[in-house]
Amino acid sequence: MSKRRVAILALVLLIGLAAGAGLSAAPAPAPAPLPNIVVLATGGTIAGAAASDVQAEYTSGQVGVEQLLAAVPQAKKLANLKGEQVSNIGSQDMNDEVWLKLARRINELTAMKEVDGVVITHGTDTIEETAYFLNLVVKSKKPVVLTAAMRPSTALSADGPLNFFNAVAVAANKEAAGRGVLVVINDWIHGASSLTKTSTTALQTFLSPVWGLIGTVAYGDAEFYRGPVGRNTVDSEFSIEKIKALPRVDIIMAHENMDGALIEAAVAAGAKGIVIAGVGNGNMTQAALDALAAQAKKGIVCVRSSRVPTGRVGRSVEVDDDKYGFVASLGLNPQKSRVLLRLALTQTKDVKQIQKYFDEY
Ligand code: ASP
Repeated sequence: MSKRRVAILALVLLIGLAAGAGLSAAPAPAPAPLPNIVVLATGGTIAGAAASDVQAEYTSGQVGVEQLLAAVPQAKKLANLKGEQVSNIGSQDMNDEVWLKLARRINELTAMKEVDGVVITHGTDTIEETAYFLNLVVKSKKPVVLTAAMRPSTALSADGPLNFFNAVAVAANKEAAGRGVLVVINDWIHGASSLTKTSTTALQTFLSPVWGLIGTVAYGDAEFYRGPVGRNTVDSEFSIEKIKALPRVDIIMAHENMDGALIEAAVAAGAKGIVIAGVGNGNMTQAALDALAAQAKKGIVCVRSSRVPTGRVGRSVEVDDDKYGFVASLGLNPQKSRVLLRLALTQTKDVKQIQKYFDEY
């Protein structure tokens, strides 16, 4: 055989082998479908804008949900995203109307087979209250994740985009299911009952004192350490199904030389419950105790919490709760005690039962 014929034969053989190999190779597995996450925007600094990228003054709730999504195209690799604008307000203006609308929409969405999780963008000022409210009234184990930002979207080193990306990653993560409503901010995953805002301006403003973090998340990579503290979501007996309005509950901060004037004023304004942000372990002056006890006798439910940022308010430590007819907030700070008390009052005025709620939730 000539050299040329040998070369042609070898080539034909090689092509045949390559084709054979191609035919027998297993087809590449199809990529897993992305989860479907709905983004509900409510406003806040994450949607805020300033006239320049280095100024402190800005306005919350200026950017719409579509702009918010467009600003983080990387999140589309984590999930199929659909946005809805629920409100566009600074969360200092958060109110019952938005709460009920938001909670109802989350319940509708999470009941849909095709929805895998929900992300809510919110302001940082009251995110802990909204998260805790949702934790008590959302009826789903699917991930419901709130996020926020300390710097407006126009700021130098805005924190919103990465917080949003991380929130989507957590909502898209199957391991987030069944851990109650979560808040993802500055790489940390907080439980709704534990987190609290601790700095007016620092990026690392949210802490979960006493109970610690649910997990951490770095560039979408989440680690989970614990489950939620307290009954929540599908295990909560509170429901907004038939509720049109929530009862008024006021928070009054205790201080040196406190009298009973604000306690009486709260009841005169229509409060059905009062939360005292007490000094130390939920303490207050004798004058305030007497004024509060007089309201408790009339059927106003009075909860002792604390203005101190960490630690529990124990039952009957320095104040005899049985004698006065009070409820101790245990692990809940004043703002979350108010949320629980409002929902509790939709069910009962019985102080023993309400103390049991504070034990369990
Ligand atoms: N005032 C703003 C808000 O809660 C603050 C923030 O979002 O960081 O809407």
